[in-house]
Amino acid sequence: MSDYQETLYDGYGQRFRIDQMLHEVRTEHQHLVIFQNARMGRVMALDGVIQTTEADEFIYHEMLTHVPILAHGRAKRVLIIGGGDGGMLREVAKHRSVEHITMVEIDGTVVDMCKQFLPNHSCGAFDDPRLNLVIDDGMRFVATTAEKFDVIISDSTDPIGPGEVLFSENFYEACRRCLNDGGILVTQNGTPFMQLGEVQTTASRMHGLFADWHFYMAAVPTYIGGSMTFAWGSTDAEYRKLSLDTLRQRFAGSGIVTRYYNPEIHQGAFALPQYVLQAIHKPSND
Ligand code: SAM
Repeated sequence: MSDYQETLYDGYGQRFRIDQMLHEVRTEHQHLVIFQNARMGRVMALDGVIQTTEADEFIYHEMLTHVPILAHGRAKRVLIIGGGDGGMLREVAKHRSVEHITMVEIDGTVVDMCKQFLPNHSCGAFDDPRLNLVIDDGMRFVATTAEKFDVIISDSTDPIGPGEVLFSENFYEACRRCLNDGGILVTQNGTPFMQLGEVQTTASRMHGLFADWHFYMAAVPTYIGGSMTFAWGSTDAEYRKLSLDTLRQRFAGSGIVTRYYNPEIHQGAFALPQYVLQAIHKPSND
C-alpha cells in the first residue's frame, strides 16, 4: 500500500494511505490524482495539493455558499470560479431563490473525472438547468464578460500554477466590476497560520475596492495548519451586521439541511484571531 504525501509546504505536510488509486492524469493544466482512503473517503489532489475529500468537503462548500447567499438575501445570479469537483455547485443549487449559476473552471478534465470518481460531490448538480458551465480561465472570464452577478465565489486552487491569477489585483477588480449593486465576493484564501502573507495581500487588494471587506473562518481538517480564511468583499457593510434573527429566518426559509453551517456559526465565523486582525490591517508591501 503506497502513500500520498502532500507537498504544499516544505518540510511539513499530511500523508494519506492510498487504499485504492482511482485515477491519475496530467491534464492540460495540472497533475490530477483521485484515490480512496479508508478514513477520508475519496480524495482529489492537484499538483501535490489536497483539493477535497469526501469526509470533510461539506464544511468548506457550505461555508463558501450559504454565508454569502443568506447574507445577501436576494441572490438570483451566482458565479463560481473554479470548483471543478462540483461540491460548490451542489450547495449553491440547493438555494431555490437562485435562478442562474455560471461556473467557470479552467480544466475540463477535473470536471469529467470528478463527475466519474467523486459523484457524491456534485450529486447531479452538473445537470441543473440553471447551470452555464464554462471551461475557461476565470481571470479571462471576469475580465471580458458583460454579465453581472449577485454573489461571486472563487473556489480556486492555491496561488500557484493556474490558480495564481485568481489572487491578483486584476482579478478582484474584475470581480468587483461584475457584481450587481448589493453584490458579494467570497474567496478561498488559505490557512492564515501557514499562509498569513496571502491573507495580508488579499486584504491590501480588497481594501481599496470594496465598501466592506473582511474575512471569515472555518476549520477544514484536510486544509492543514488550522482554520481556513475566506475573503469577503461586499458593496454593502450592512450584510455583516445582520441580526441572528434575520439569519435564522433566512436559513429556515431556505429549507436547506446542512451539516456544518448554521446562523450562529455564520455570525461567529467573522470573529478573527488577533494575529490575523493585525496582519490584515497592516499595510502590505505588495
Ligand atoms: N477546495 C480547494 C481549495 O480550497 O484549494 C479548491 C478545489 S477546486 C478543485 C479548485 C479548482 O480551481 C480546480 O478545479 C482548478 O482546475 C480550478 N482553477 C485553478 N485555476 C483556475 C483558473 N485560473 N480559472 C478557473 N479555474 C481554475
